[in-house]
Amino acid sequence: MRLENRVALVTGAGRGIGRAIALRLAEEGADVLATDIDPELAEETASAVRKIGREARATQVDVADPAQIKEVTAMAEQEFDAPLEIMVNNAGIQLLKEVFDVTPEEWDRIVDINARGVFFGMQAAANAMRERGRGTIINMASIAGREASPLYAPYCATKAAVISLTKSFALALAPYGIRVNSVGPGIVDTDLWDKQDAVLAQMKGLRKGEPKAQRIKQVPLGRAGVPEDVAGTVAFLASDDADYITGECILISGGLVML
Ligand code: NAD
Repeated sequence: MRLENRVALVTGAGRGIGRAIALRLAEEGADVLATDIDPELAEETASAVRKIGREARATQVDVADPAQIKEVTAMAEQEFDAPLEIMVNNAGIQLLKEVFDVTPEEWDRIVDINARGVFFGMQAAANAMRERGRGTIINMASIAGREASPLYAPYCATKAAVISLTKSFALALAPYGIRVNSVGPGIVDTDLWDKQDAVLAQMKGLRKGEPKAQRIKQVPLGRAGVPEDVAGTVAFLASDDADYITGECILISGGLVML
């Protein structure tokens, strides 16, 4: 119960990694505001949190809209009658396309969600936390932020931006007692990877499931990650056990990428 009675806001909490994070934070004692662009998914996560025995609310938020993030951050405090202490900027999308074919609209959309959304998520959390001089922010990066790829150029760029923004905010917020970190998953078994597998299979003339299996073969620990692998690291970073860690990106890739 490292996070007992702390209020946490998670974006993209409706499924996959965000859902697992919301549940793990609740298992460690946090009350959770589950947000997602899909309100039904957010509500499902909130009801799963309540089953664990913690308080939960669900709200629709598109992280591409800074006004919505600002509003929901203020709401966290009102709804739980306690200050926001943990902000997890998890929501993200992927784009798998040759550099020759990416359109300006696709570029704008992925940057708006993955990079701009994280910037304004951190800004809103920082403004909510800084008066109290306490709080922690965790952002969703990726091993893609440490690598380059001909098929994921905009995605890699946005995740590199998350790693960079995490460091800048860590410096800006350290004087206020707020820690800022990111996590960088490798291959995690979620809908996002399944969609990616389907596109890769079509591109390369492979059977569905083959691209994923090939990638998993490269993982030294011999398996794909599960959302709970990421959630455990996020819970650690949110807790006082990580009190002397800020500006870091912890990779969770079974050894696929090492620094
Ligand atoms: P997912 O697609 O399974 O779930 C993403 C969730 O975010 C969904 O509930 C979706 O509705 C929500 N969402 C999408 N756009 C949104 C928006 N504009 N505003 C608010 N919510 C929005 O994906 P996932 O695999 O759980 O990925 C979560 C995060 O982890 C993403 O940032 C992703 O880039 C990152 N990540 C995933 C992997 C992986 O292998 N799955 C690896 C590295 C990093």
